[in-house]
Amino acid sequence: MKFLVKWIFVMASILSISLTTAMETFEATGIEGNGDIRNIIFLIGDGMGVSFTSGYRYFKDNPATLELESTEFGPYLVGQQTTYPHDQRYNVTDSAASATAMATGVKTYNGAIGINNNHTKLKSVLEAAKEKGKGTGLVATAQITHGTPAAFGAHVVERKSMSAIADGYFDDLVNGRHKIDVLLGGGSEWFIRKDRNLVEEFVKDGYSYVTNLNEMTNNDSRQVLGLFAKRGLPKMIDRTEEIPSLADMAGSAIERLNKNEKGFFLMVEGSQIDWAAHDNDIVGVMSEMEDFEKAFKVAIDFAKKDGHTLVIATADHSTGGFTIGAKGQYNWFSSVIKTVKRTPNYMASEIFNGAGVEETLSKYIKLPLTKAEIRLVESAARTQNAKNIDNAIEEIINSRSFSGWTTRGHTGEDVNVYTYGPGSDRLKGQIDNTDHAKVIFDILK
Ligand SMILES: [Zn+2]
Repeated sequence: MKFLVKWIFVMASILSISLTTAMETFEATGIEGNGDIRNIIFLIGDGMGVSFTSGYRYFKDNPATLELESTEFGPYLVGQQTTYPHDQRYNVTDSAASATAMATGVKTYNGAIGINNNHTKLKSVLEAAKEKGKGTGLVATAQITHGTPAAFGAHVVERKSMSAIADGYFDDLVNGRHKIDVLLGGGSEWFIRKDRNLVEEFVKDGYSYVTNLNEMTNNDSRQVLGLFAKRGLPKMIDRTEEIPSLADMAGSAIERLNKNEKGFFLMVEGSQIDWAAHDNDIVGVMSEMEDFEKAFKVAIDFAKKDGHTLVIATADHSTGGFTIGAKGQYNWFSSVIKTVKRTPNYMASEIFNGAGVEETLSKYIKLPLTKAEIRLVESAARTQNAKNIDNAIEEIINSRSFSGWTTRGHTGEDVNVYTYGPGSDRLKGQIDNTDHAKVIFDILK
């Protein structure tokens, strides 16, 4: 009898231990429990449709193996989201409407920033995080006042009102404090204006102001305004070393925000996947996919170490109607794209500013071009219109690589959702872009 009681006691203690560890594991993989989530890193690849995430896998493929190796994104795929807006005019979204849906949980019209169809302000997850005393940050390769970051930090009727958005970043307080601690990206033109110098005002309120990679890495203050270009940053493939990458900015933001004992909310946007896709520029798209992948890896590596961080990555919509393979050709030659060392835009502006056509093409495209291809660019150059030159160079690369495009606008298909960390499986399967905010508001509750 005594032996039986002892045996039951031992089994009970073993059981309780295994139960607690199971709970802990559940927690870590995020199936249950909000309290365990201190930080949220929300990454948005603007325009990053499924054809781009697949194309990027081809682009990164190791040709020495038969297998198509996974990218950093692959292991974290949990499902897809719908992206449609609530707009009488359009059923394909723009970045403003989709970002507002992801930031506030409410669908709205194209062009709206943080407001609904009745022009009522909508609280964002960034503002809710600030209410909780958390650190908050916005990072982008576009102007930091552009559609996606603006939807998390401002409220205006029309996304073009970028001066008003910049003003809102400073003037709109939460519990008497500035609502955004870290702002890193482009757009100094909207901060240093004739009517107002917001840089001076932020600095007066204790923010550091940095304008290049060196200044950013040699500064660790918790509140920082970093503006690295008048408008958007150069794309990764055109970027010079004093301009930070998206990964540099994401890493710097995380380091600063992680000093807040209550945790943080950070939105990181790979803004220019969309810009390159609008331009049907596959070189630019692959450049910005790589830049975004590196930033994604910075977030995942931090979350793996931290254990209390939910990482979400997705897109606001797809752009360009890109196809891997075109014109009946069952091939897509990423090798062609890899021979191009600057964006067509970059080459076009060199030619437009007087550089020789053949000289510029051979300097930046390590591929023997035909006479016809060179003539195509020469005749575009004679129009003295940089856009024509840019399009001519894109035409060559798209034809040689069999990259197909159906539009220079957005398209309406679902986009992928990737998550990691506690709470990550609350966004699995088929979701809608508003679900992100609903889950994050619940986590912050
Ligand atoms: Zn767009």
